[in-house]
Amino acid sequence: MTRFTKITASIGPSSESETVLRQMILGGVNVFRINFSHDVGQVQGKKIDSVRRISQKLGLPVGIMVDLQGPKHRIGNFATEEKYSISPGQTFTFDSNPEPGNSWRVNMPDADVIASLKVGDRILLNDGKIEMQVTDVAPGEVKTKVVRGTEIWSRRGFNLPDTEIITSVLTQKDRADLEYALTKNPDWVAVSFVQRPEDIAMVRDFITERTSAPIKIMAKIERRNAVTRIAEIASAADGVMIARGDLAVELPFEQVPAISRQIIRECRRLNRPVVMATQMLGSMVENEFPTRAEISDVANAAYLRVDSTMTSEETTIGVHPLKVVETMDKILSFADMDAIEHFNDWVRTENAPENDWSRSVSSMAHLNHASAIIVFARDTDSTMQISARRPDVPIVAVCDNNLVANQLCLLRGVIPVYTPDLFALRDVNAVAKMTAIKPGKLVIVDGDEVSLRDHN
Ligand code: PGA
Ligand code: MN
Repeated sequence: MTRFTKITASIGPSSESETVLRQMILGGVNVFRINFSHDVGQVQGKKIDSVRRISQKLGLPVGIMVDLQGPKHRIGNFATEEKYSISPGQTFTFDSNPEPGNSWRVNMPDADVIASLKVGDRILLNDGKIEMQVTDVAPGEVKTKVVRGTEIWSRRGFNLPDTEIITSVLTQKDRADLEYALTKNPDWVAVSFVQRPEDIAMVRDFITERTSAPIKIMAKIERRNAVTRIAEIASAADGVMIARGDLAVELPFEQVPAISRQIIRECRRLNRPVVMATQMLGSMVENEFPTRAEISDVANAAYLRVDSTMTSEETTIGVHPLKVVETMDKILSFADMDAIEHFNDWVRTENAPENDWSRSVSSMAHLNHASAIIVFARDTDSTMQISARRPDVPIVAVCDNNLVANQLCLLRGVIPVYTPDLFALRDVNAVAKMTAIKPGKLVIVDGDEVSLRDHN
């Protein structure tokens, strides 16, 4: 059985040993996410080194995605680590005063945030469990009315669904993390809390000033204003993550499935890979088996033709990281084959004129019952376009560049094969054999040339 939907797995304490990482790769992980919200650079660097070492030993390309924390906002400290009572209807103030907080006020460390808030804006703390609404703004101080919530304590994170924040998408910490991460040659850099296409351009400049490697940028869609400008942001970036965790706090949660579909549609039209993230197998942080609802959620991501699903806590702090990968692999593989057999939709992808040739390649494979499309890939462009049409056969991308092979790991239906010498792999029979492609017809894409060949 061939799996088309890829698995991106976050690495954490449960999964960072070389033994577990190795088993995860063999179990089907295509891309690892290294989350810079936790741990310092050197510790993260070791995880990257481990993945690279194992991938090389196994001869299996694996992608590495460095995920920057971004401007994740947190309130300051209270006098003690205890919880402080608050009640709906009362006034609560956020200010620039560094004094420890109490039931009436607390420090807001980020001056940009205080300056960005307007009367009427909501402040959602602790994953939305506390809601406050701004009633007064003054220099260095924001007064709010508590709408929901009964207790508050030190360093809670908060979301500002109504506010365009005049802050950089790269914090001081992100700059230091990215500077370090770039020395480790990541394949992808994920940018958190993107608000505008300019945010992506800024990160791109930061990267190109430091390396000539064409590292790809993934825009994490987790703010309302990012959803509004999804087409521009997806175009500016190289890929998109549907970050359902923060998205469901920033927007009414019932809108998240509809928005997810809209994002997937845009990404397919714009030839950008799209990752579905957060709580896909959430209960497996503690349990050995997924819930029925989670099984459906993972399968539905495959039916929606995302490029990859993602695990977070399931594989970072969960008790069964390998079981999580095995479960995801099983559900995706079955749904992918079923989708091709009964709900094939490659013909229905958006018809942007620049997609015409990749659509022809996909229909050629379909009409000739080809067993695969083979792309000789000097860079990621052709493969990205063909994959975005969601053809119903695997796409084998033969690359003579490690970065290209690793980046393509994230793409739906793509089997990257690395070879130091493209000419050595010009024999398509050898390629088909290496990748266990069934005998039959192959569609070959080599530069501008597209041809049909038999192989046995
Ligand atoms: P995070 O992003 O895990 O870095 O918060 C994903 C999300 O918000 O869903
Ligand atoms: Mn997030």
